[in-house]
Amino acid sequence: MTESTTFRRDDMVARLRDERFDVLVVGGGATGLGVAVDAASRGFRTALVEADDFAKGTSSRSTKLVHGGVRYLEQLDIALVTEALRERGLLYRNAPHIVRNLPFIVPQYKWWEGPFYGAGLKAYDLLAGRMNLAPSRMLSAAQVVEEIPNVEQTDLKGGVRYHDGQFDDARLAISLALTAADHGAVVANRVRVIGLRKDVTTCTGAVVRDEVTGDEFEIRARVVVNACGVFADEVRRLDEPDVDRVIEPAQGVHLVLDRSFQPSDTAIMVPHTDDGRVLFVIPWHHRVVVGTTDTPMKTAELEPRALPEEIEFILRNANRYLAKDPTAADVKSVFAGLRPLVHPGGTSGSTKSISRNHEVFVSGSGVVTIVGGKWTTYRRMAEDTMKQVAAVGGLDDRPCVTESLRVHAALDRDDPALPEHDPHRMYGSDAALVASIATERPELAGPLHADLPYTGAEIAFAARHEMALGLNDALSRRTRCLLLDAKAAAEVAPRAAEIMAAELGRDRSWIDSEVAAFRTLADGYTLRP
Ligand SMILES: Cc1cc2nc3c(=O)[nH]c(=O)nc-3n(C[C@H](O)[C@H](O)[C@H](O)COP(=O)(O)OP(=O)(O)OC[C@H]3O[C@@H](n4cnc5c(N)ncnc54)[C@H](O)[C@@H]3O)c2cc1C
Repeated sequence: MTESTTFRRDDMVARLRDERFDVLVVGGGATGLGVAVDAASRGFRTALVEADDFAKGTSSRSTKLVHGGVRYLEQLDIALVTEALRERGLLYRNAPHIVRNLPFIVPQYKWWEGPFYGAGLKAYDLLAGRMNLAPSRMLSAAQVVEEIPNVEQTDLKGGVRYHDGQFDDARLAISLALTAADHGAVVANRVRVIGLRKDVTTCTGAVVRDEVTGDEFEIRARVVVNACGVFADEVRRLDEPDVDRVIEPAQGVHLVLDRSFQPSDTAIMVPHTDDGRVLFVIPWHHRVVVGTTDTPMKTAELEPRALPEEIEFILRNANRYLAKDPTAADVKSVFAGLRPLVHPGGTSGSTKSISRNHEVFVSGSGVVTIVGGKWTTYRRMAEDTMKQVAAVGGLDDRPCVTESLRVHAALDRDDPALPEHDPHRMYGSDAALVASIATERPELAGPLHADLPYTGAEIAFAARHEMALGLNDALSRRTRCLLLDAKAAAEVAPRAAEIMAAELGRDRSWIDSEVAAFRTLADGYTLRP
């Protein structure tokens, strides 16, 4: 973090009140943060407000892949795959501290699967072109077992290895918030949009509530961008109360297991389970993430919960492809997220369809809504959104620079100071600040918990430098304790709350209420066998 970057919430809120902005982005997930980075790096006066915490919604609950979408290739959606592969390559280059190259194996149990997936994945290589991470390859059954020791070996005929990117979604989100701030944007969490301001018919800003103090105030902006994911319809209705809903949330669940279920550094990808779904078994932060599901939901929740049938589906299919079978008792954490799908034709009339995967549309008062897409394509989504923003706001024609914009604290990929498996690599050059906290307070240098890969210094760093305001921010998104092991996360809660309280000037009653709230939350991530 450069000395000039101030990422203090109090300063940010004061600026939200005082300044006038070209662009106000509502929503601090992948989509909104991408727009804020794009707008700020073009030199526009930019603000972003997030009602809860950065990536609190869908953006911290993904499969953690930066990918072209092998599945779309089967549907022959070449344009979509090509766009996503290009974005994969750009993100791999611009966030080398957060995105890595992960080998995947598609195991082959039927004779035709080898040639079929082999050819498909060669096409995937070709579409990635110069930006390919590594070429795909056919493997014998023995080679598959060598790379995935826990693969189901009955009837195994061989496999195909290909490569995609893997990342830490919430870490990328906070890094994008910092990138936007590095370029002058005003960025704040716990600021909720509760109304829109209009000058006769044109939207001129938003009314917000500071969720920390309860204060309500106005933010003035030439263009408001609604990037609220599954909550986008709620903000659209602040603008046009009778507008039809367009978002159809679809839930995806993941189970987290210990490393013994996939001890090597290779993922398994099953393109078609017997139920016709995709199954991933992925090594992540020394755990194994297995998923996912695709369940239509009626309502959008900030803390969605897995349904029993989704858990049963994942365990049943994991058991088909793994030799050592996981049971509910092996699950360290279960997390659910909601895909913000736009229902077909739902935005007709006002819709400007930009790509098959995401949509940008403009209301009569000039509010620009961006929905759909995926984490991998957030940069492209932002660029498409800014075209509409510039038109609505009559902004100067300034070129997009994000194709070559390095994400906050980026290091060279082969920086010897922080090799790929260094637990602090995700902090990039900010790892020096984490280290300085450990030197300043040696009692924070050690691990928080024997089953978690984080130190007390990282909790202090989250509070001091990354706008973590509560225990949930620090244990769920700045570190990923809750997703890696919900029980261990609940156990470290009292110590982590004390560390945060010392940083934030909070008292004993704050500690007690944060610990109680976090333990209730962690309960929802725990499976009772
Ligand atoms: C199960 C699952 C797996 C996925 N896996 C992958 C993957 O591996 N790779 C990939 O590329 N993509 C993946 N995706 C897709 C990707 O995660 C989403 O497309 C992306 O995170 C959506 O981000 P968003 O910013 O649009 O929404 P969100 O992350 O939900 O952000 C919206 C934000 O708006 C805020 N908000 C709401 N109302 C207000 C208000 N009134 N005022 C201020 N703020 C407000 C919310 O608090 C929220 O933080 C996956 C999605 C799911 C569900």
